[in-house]
Amino acid sequence: MSDLPNDLPIRRFSRRDGLPGTQVHALTCDHLGRFWFAGSSGLASYDGVRVRRYQQRDGLSTHGLRALAVRPGAPHELLVGGDAGVDLLDLREIGPPRVRPLLTTPTWTGGRVEVLLPDPDAGGGLWIGTASGLYRWDPDSGAHPVTDPTLAGQHVTALVRSGPLVWAATHGGLLHRHAARPGGAPGGWTLPYPAPLPGGATTALCAAPDGTLFVGASSQLTELAPDGTVRATLPLPAPVTALLFQPPSQTHPAELWVGVGARLLTFRRGAGGWQAHGPALSEGRVNALHGDPFGNVWAATDSRGVLRVSALRRVYQRPLVPSPQAAYSVRPGGSRGWLVGAEQALWRFEEDVTPPSGWQAQVIADLPAVWDTLELESGERWFATQQGLWRAAPGQAPVPAAPDDPEAQAPARALLCLRGRLWIGTVRGLLSVPLADPHAPLRRHLNGATPLGYVYTLCAGHDGTLWIGTLGQGLWREQDGPLSRVTDPAPDLLGVTGNVYALAPCDDGDLIAVQDNRVLRLGPGGVHLLARSEEAVAGWAVLVQGDRLWVGGSDGLSEYDARSGERRRQANWPGADSWEFTTSRSLAAGPGALLCGLNTGLLKVDLTELGRLTAPPPPTLASLEFRPGPAPLPPEVAQASGAGPHTLPQGHWGLEAWPACPWYLDEDTLRLRHRLLGWEADWSAPHPPGPIRYQSLPAGRYTLQVQAFAPLTGWSAPQSLLRLHVQPPRWQRRLSAAFTALTGPFLQTRRLRRQNLALEQRVQERTREVERAHDALLNANRELQTLSLTDALTGVPNRRQFDAAWQQAAAQVQAGHPVTLALLDIDHFKGFNDTYGHQEGDRCLQRVAGALRGALRGPADLLARYGGEEFGVILPGESLRDAAGVIERLRRNVEELGIPNAASPHATVTVSVGAVTVVPGAPGLPADWLDLADAALYRAKDLGRNRVVHDRP
Ligand code: GH3
Ligand code: MG
Ligand code: MG
Repeated sequence: MSDLPNDLPIRRFSRRDGLPGTQVHALTCDHLGRFWFAGSSGLASYDGVRVRRYQQRDGLSTHGLRALAVRPGAPHELLVGGDAGVDLLDLREIGPPRVRPLLTTPTWTGGRVEVLLPDPDAGGGLWIGTASGLYRWDPDSGAHPVTDPTLAGQHVTALVRSGPLVWAATHGGLLHRHAARPGGAPGGWTLPYPAPLPGGATTALCAAPDGTLFVGASSQLTELAPDGTVRATLPLPAPVTALLFQPPSQTHPAELWVGVGARLLTFRRGAGGWQAHGPALSEGRVNALHGDPFGNVWAATDSRGVLRVSALRRVYQRPLVPSPQAAYSVRPGGSRGWLVGAEQALWRFEEDVTPPSGWQAQVIADLPAVWDTLELESGERWFATQQGLWRAAPGQAPVPAAPDDPEAQAPARALLCLRGRLWIGTVRGLLSVPLADPHAPLRRHLNGATPLGYVYTLCAGHDGTLWIGTLGQGLWREQDGPLSRVTDPAPDLLGVTGNVYALAPCDDGDLIAVQDNRVLRLGPGGVHLLARSEEAVAGWAVLVQGDRLWVGGSDGLSEYDARSGERRRQANWPGADSWEFTTSRSLAAGPGALLCGLNTGLLKVDLTELGRLTAPPPPTLASLEFRPGPAPLPPEVAQASGAGPHTLPQGHWGLEAWPACPWYLDEDTLRLRHRLLGWEADWSAPHPPGPIRYQSLPAGRYTLQVQAFAPLTGWSAPQSLLRLHVQPPRWQRRLSAAFTALTGPFLQTRRLRRQNLALEQRVQERTREVERAHDALLNANRELQTLSLTDALTGVPNRRQFDAAWQQAAAQVQAGHPVTLALLDIDHFKGFNDTYGHQEGDRCLQRVAGALRGALRGPADLLARYGGEEFGVILPGESLRDAAGVIERLRRNVEELGIPNAASPHATVTVSVGAVTVVPGAPGLPADWLDLADAALYRAKDLGRNRVVHDRP
C-alpha cells in the first residue's frame, strides 16, 4: 500500500479563499447547511459559494476563538467560545449575524473557553470546558463553576453527549454523569474507569449513534461499548487531537478518522477490528473533525486552514498500487480479476472485496500498448497490441500468435469471440481463426477483393451478428457470409466515410454506435440520433445497462437515457481537468461498479454510491445589497433586507443578490441560472455562482428565482429568493389616490344609507372579489408584457429584451466574462423611405434583420431591434479581436443583400456599426458602455457610413 495523498479528492480552504487565518480550532455546520470555521484570527462562514469572515470589528466580543456549537433546540443560534468568553450569534437574518455576548469579562472569570456542549432541549443549558475546569451555564441562573471534587481545577479537553450520558475528558481522567439530572447540582460526576485510562491523559472524545464512545489519549485509542466495556484498543504513536466516527454505508464499512500528532489517519472496521486504511495525510495538527450529511470529512488544522476530504472518495476509487500510465483496455480475467492493458505492460488486478486492502495487482507481461485482451475458458489469453497479435497458454508468457503472418504483426485493436471463431480487428483489416484450432492460418475477411482498412472496434449482436467499426469507412456487419456496409439514408448520421469509435449492444437487440461526434441507436426503425457532442469524438467507449447508456469520452464519464439520449449526469473526478477515456475497450462493468481505463490509469466508479449523490439543494439568499444611482438611495431601499416582499420606489438604484448553495460535492462544477419574473420570462444561461445584479427596474412586481445545476446530479428545485414591488413615481400614485378619493365618498354614503350589517358584509365580500379579479387581470397583463419580447415587424427580440440581455451581460463582466456590444443603423434610410415608400422600407427592415441574424454564431449571441432602423447586437464572451470578425460579417451581410438605395452614395442599403468590447476591469458603468457604442456609431456615420468603428472603455 503506497501513500497517494494527492489521489484523495481534497479541497482546501486557506487565507486565499477568505479565511481570516490558517490556524483553525473548531468547525461546525448550521441549520442552513453553512459551515462555520473558528480560529485564532476570527470566524468565517462558507455557504458553498463564498467564504465570509467576521472579526471583532463585526461585533464579536471575543478573539482567539476555540469552540463552536449550534444549540440543537435553537438551530439558528451559534455559540462561539474564545479567549474572553462566549458569544451567541443569531443566524436568522441574511447578511452578517447579529452578535450577543453571552459570557464576557468581568462577569465571566473562567478564562479561555476550550469546548462547548449545549443541552439538546430548547431551554437547555450549556456545558463549558476551560483550562481551569468545567462550567455550567443556564438561561435563568447564568454561569457558575462545577464544584464537583472529581473535576475541580481539571483542564477539560473534550465534552460529548452519548445516549443518556455527558462525558468529559480531563487531564485527570474520563468522567461522566447522567444528562437528565438538573444541570448545576453538585455531585453526579463519576470516574467509571481507573484514572487515567491506559494510554495516558484523555485528549479527545467522539460518540457513535449507537452509544459507542471513542476515547483518544496520549498514546492510545479506546473503543467503549455502550455498556461501558472496553471493546477495542489501538496503540498510537502520538496524542490524539481529534476524532470522528463515520457510520457505515451500504457499500462501505464504518470509518474512524483520527488526528494523531501531525497526521490525519483513517481506520476502517474490518473482520479483525480497526485497521489503518488509505493514505495518511500530513496536514499538521488536526484540531477538529466534522462529518457532513454528504459524507465529506472536514478537518480544522492548526496551520493549514480547513481541508475537506470529499465524499466522492467512496464513488471513485483508484487501486492502491502504482497505477499504470494510460489504461487502454479493461477486460475480465478470472474470478474477480481484471486484465488491464496499459501503455507499457499488461496488468492483472485482483479486487479484494474485504477492506482495507482493496486492490492487488501484478504485471503479467511487458507488452507495449495492449489495446484489447481476451481470456478464454481454457485459461488461454489473447492480446491485441501495438506489436500485433499475441497469445499466452495458461501459466505461460505471451508469444507472437502467428509469427509468419505479416498481417498478424500489424497493430491490432480489437478482439472478439463469436460463433466459434476469434475475430481480430487490425489497422489493416479483419482477421479470424477458429477457436477449436487456434494454430490454423488466419482468415482474411474482405470487402469484395479489398481489405476493410482500419478496424477499430468489434461487437457481437444478440442474434450473432458481428458489428465492425472502422476508421474512415464507417460501420459494417457480418453474419455467416460476406461483409456488408451499414449506412443510413440520412448520411450525416451514419456516413460511409465515418469513424466508428465504439459499439455496444442493447438488451432489445438495438445497437449503440458512436460515429464521429454522434451517439446513435440503430434498430429496426432506422438510425436514431441520441446525442451530438461539441468535440470531434462523441465517446471512446460505450456501455448499455438497461435504460442507462454510459459513454466514456474525452470529458469523462457521462450517463444518458439509452432511449431518449437525454444526458443524466457527467461524473468526473473532482478537480480533474482531464478524465479521458482511451479506447473502445476502456469501459467495463463489474458488480455494482464501472471500471474505467483513463489516460491517467485505472479508476473504479461505484454505481451504488454514485446513485446516492444528491442534487444541489435549492439556492438560498445569502446577501442583498442596494447600490445608489446618481441620487442617494431612498430610505425604503436602503433599509430593505432579506427576501421581502419589499415595496420600493422606482429609481436608478441597483441591486446585488448573492445566492448560497451548500452543495459540497464538487462546487467547481456547480452552475446557477436565474430569472427575474416580471422582467424576463426566460432563464439566464447557466453561470458560475456569483452575484446577480439588476439596475433601474421600472415599476412592477418582481420575483427573483434561482436554480442550481451540478453535472454530476442534475438540477435543484427552483427557488424564489427575493420579491420586489417597485412603485411608479409619486405623481402617478397621486393620480390613482385622487381617483380613490373621488369614488370613496360615494361608497360611504351608500354604506351609511343601508344600515344593515349583513348587507355591508356582502358589499365587502364583493369588493374583495372585484379586487381579486383586478389583481388577476393585472397579473395576466404582466405576463402578456413579459411574453411580448419580440419585435412584430422583424421577428427579432425587441428593445425590452435587448435591455434585459445587456444588463445581464454587463453584470457578468466583472465576474470574468467579457462582452461586445454593437449598435447598427441603416444608412440614408429616410431617403430610402422617401424614394420607395414606407411599405418597401418595412420590407427592407425585415431583410436587413434576416441578414444580420445570419451573421450570428449561436444562441448566445443576441440580435434585437433597438428602435426605428437601428439594431443592437450582444456578443458575450468575446475578445476584441474575435468579436471584430462577427461585426464585420454583420456589415458585409447587409451590403451583400444588394438592396438598391438610390438615396445613398453607396447605391445599395448599407449599415454603419458602432461597437464596444468590455473586458473585466473596464472602467465605467453599463450605461456608459452603451453611450460609448452610440458615440462609435456616430463616428462611423461621420467617416462616410457603411463601416465599423470599434472602441473599448
Ligand atoms: P443616417 O445614415 O444618418 O442614419 O440617415 P437616415 O436617413 O437613416 O437618418 P435618420 O435616422 O434620421 O432616419 C431614420 C428613418 O428611418 C426615419 C424613419 O422614416 C425611418 N424608419 C424608422 N422606423 C421605421 C419603420 O419601422 N419602417 C420604415 N419604413 N421606416 C422607418
Ligand atoms: Mg437612425
Ligand atoms: Mg439611419
